[in-house]
Amino acid sequence: MSVYLHEEDLPAGVLADGPVAIDTETMGLITPRDRLCLVQISDGKGDEHLVRFQPGSSYAAPNLRAIVADPNRIKLFHFGRFDIAALQHYLGVLAAPVYCTKIASRLVRTYTDRHGLKEIVRELLGFDISKQQQSSDWGGPVLSDAQRDYAASDVRYLHALKAELDVRLEREGRMALAQACFDFLPHRALLDLAGWPEIDIFAHA
Ligand code: MN
Repeated sequence: MSVYLHEEDLPAGVLADGPVAIDTETMGLITPRDRLCLVQISDGKGDEHLVRFQPGSSYAAPNLRAIVADPNRIKLFHFGRFDIAALQHYLGVLAAPVYCTKIASRLVRTYTDRHGLKEIVRELLGFDISKQQQSSDWGGPVLSDAQRDYAASDVRYLHALKAELDVRLEREGRMALAQACFDFLPHRALLDLAGWPEIDIFAHA
């Protein structure tokens, strides 16, 4: 179980086939303003890969883009809406098909309004992950050990979470509804980028 740091792209052939967990770290929450600094990716076999982008990067990253766009790989996110928009805006590639552990959590953990990654990892898997570095500066020349560990932990548990959440989605008869949400999610991210960020297009008023 290791964390690997790469510059500007993922090396070819480092991921096993199958679903990949993806997370992003940016300079902030406004996607066109706040540049993409780091993309974390894991195949769920125990290693995490961190791909760092320098200021002024071209974001060419052909290997990473191919993984994100691969129609045969499910991309696992936690609150994928944000990450999918960042990947689309900076890498120019739309992630699909996707699975979002936050949406799945909302559909089955109806007994709580706490759907943060830390909370569902603790409840469903029994691990305690630190969120201390969440608001740190991801744009500096050197990532601290704490930042690397934090960034890697954001993708480390998504495969196991999907397995647990799928059991509950089946149990509660909501798998089809979840899949419909996942199918729409890339389009929700595109709506964010196109100028409908905080507008519920399904709302009456
Ligand atoms: Mn993160």
